Amino acid sequence: MSGSAPVTGRFAPTPSGRLHLGNLLCCLLAYLSARSKGGRFLLRIEDLDVPRCPKRLSDQCIEDLRFLGFDWDEAPLYQSERTEIYRRYLEELRALGLVYPCFCTRAQLHAAIAPNLGDREPVYSRACAALTEEEIALRQRTRSPAIRMRVPDEAFAFEDGHFGPVCENLARDCGDYIIRRSDGLFGYQLAVVIDDALSGVSEIVRGRDILFSTPRQIHLQKTLGFEPPAYYHIPLLMDSQGRRLAKRDKDLDLTALSRHMTPEQILGMLAFSAGIIPENRPASLDELTRVFCWENVKREDILLAYP
Ligand code: GLU
Repeated sequence: MSGSAPVTGRFAPTPSGRLHLGNLLCCLLAYLSARSKGGRFLLRIEDLDVPRCPKRLSDQCIEDLRFLGFDWDEAPLYQSERTEIYRRYLEELRALGLVYPCFCTRAQLHAAIAPNLGDREPVYSRACAALTEEEIALRQRTRSPAIRMRVPDEAFAFEDGHFGPVCENLARDCGDYIIRRSDGLFGYQLAVVIDDALSGVSEIVRGRDILFSTPRQIHLQKTLGFEPPAYYHIPLLMDSQGRRLAKRDKDLDLTALSRHMTPEQILGMLAFSAGIIPENRPASLDELTRVFCWENVKREDILLAYP
């Protein structure tokens, strides 16, 4: 992070469903972390997958955030409007010889890989990494390829502001990954790196389910000449049965919650569950901004203290 420049944080939801409390906890921590340092806060709608993220859901997401009292310093950015920018950077990576077309089908990918670990993507076999120009031209006649980023056989380490040191060897643990899908949609890894850098984001707070994307993103930042931001990955929010909250949990979305809870009650419940305040009581964003400190935020997964 650059010396005395103001901190710029952001929340970057994917509006493929109604925001749930896990998303809202992430927004809350990102907001409090930036605002408690007198920093700026931005909102980016990650609607790259347009068919899955219709405008109706982005609008709903913004309405939900406003209902809770969140504000941001610039007009929200929509990834669906930025494909030209992503295309330019893809060309830059192509010119550096760092990307290649991949014609593998889903079935081939699944046949070629060992069972993957937990929720991590399988490491790609590199079946298409060394195709000749002729082979590419031939295959392109019948199939449009995905584009993969070549990763180095190198360890990428970073210090997470909440989880501590994280290290990953990109070739061994991650493999060459898709930055543009075969249907032409740009991948999350490329878009997120470009958008954060061009918006001047200096601090990223997000769920620990994305922790293992971060070394890939740092590699992309270094390749494209961007300054890496500070990272804080946060524990996941669990329901009373110890299951991760998800968009399918309709009873914990804001339509249901706002029927019997005020915005301050919802914020207070989240802040208490995460360890920011010592009791479950209504709290405003201003108050939480004044008391926020990372040392109080839990490191283990967070059980929702639903009243
Ligand atoms: N759009 C991602 C999500 O909703 C978050 C991406 C990020 O924070 O980098 O899970």
